[in-house]
Amino acid sequence: MKGARVRKELVRDARIFTVQGFEVTVERKSVRRLNLRLNGIDGTLKVSIPRRCSWSDAQSILDGLVFRNKEWITLQLAKIRRRLRFVTPEADALNSIWIWGELHPIEFLSSCSGRIRVEQMETGIRIHALPETSSQRVLTALRRWRHEQVRYWTLEFIAKWEPRLGVQHQELVIRDMKSLWGACRIHQKKIVINGLLFHRPRQYLEEVVLHELVHLLEPSHNSRFKEIMGAMMPNWKQVEREMNGC
Ligand SMILES: [Zn+2]
Repeated sequence: MKGARVRKELVRDARIFTVQGFEVTVERKSVRRLNLRLNGIDGTLKVSIPRRCSWSDAQSILDGLVFRNKEWITLQLAKIRRRLRFVTPEADALNSIWIWGELHPIEFLSSCSGRIRVEQMETGIRIHALPETSSQRVLTALRRWRHEQVRYWTLEFIAKWEPRLGVQHQELVIRDMKSLWGACRIHQKKIVINGLLFHRPRQYLEEVVLHELVHLLEPSHNSRFKEIMGAMMPNWKQVEREMNGC
């Protein structure tokens, strides 16, 4: 199986072009016409062109093709970027981590205890672990620690806003979510907060906590809801726009 994959890569007739600010992988294939594809997961652009086209022809063909589709490409990339905001930035490498909107280095210290310990320093974090610890276990410990931080600050913000709103939550859950920053189960008075907010400016977390607490007074996003939000946090709309990347 491995051999087959290598052979396929060897015969691949492809080059990367930069066209109007976009990076496009161009493949020469036995296709009759141009074929532009945008990968919906990572946002990469690919174009297949007929084998008879030369590479110098390709550049001018691409210019026209990208120009005609620019609006569509920009829109799709914005959608993908918005979705990627929910992907945990720590997953790519264990070198650095976004803490409340700022990038900090991660330092590893070998310890002789099997327990992984995460320590917050002024300029980043330190992870104490046995040298042979798998990155999977480190990531799990890091997630647990991250959720503790989010819980701590969520409780701080709850303590600040509950008396002002005259509400009281019953249950708090911190969970990494893919499409929601927060949720409120009104009947159970349960607040759910996205643990990935740890990576964003702390004001975002405060806005989400307030938003979910206001739902205990007003379940829908009607004018009453907006009025209460505006009275409590005048820039809440701006914060939500920033969070959602629009
Ligand atoms: Zn809401």
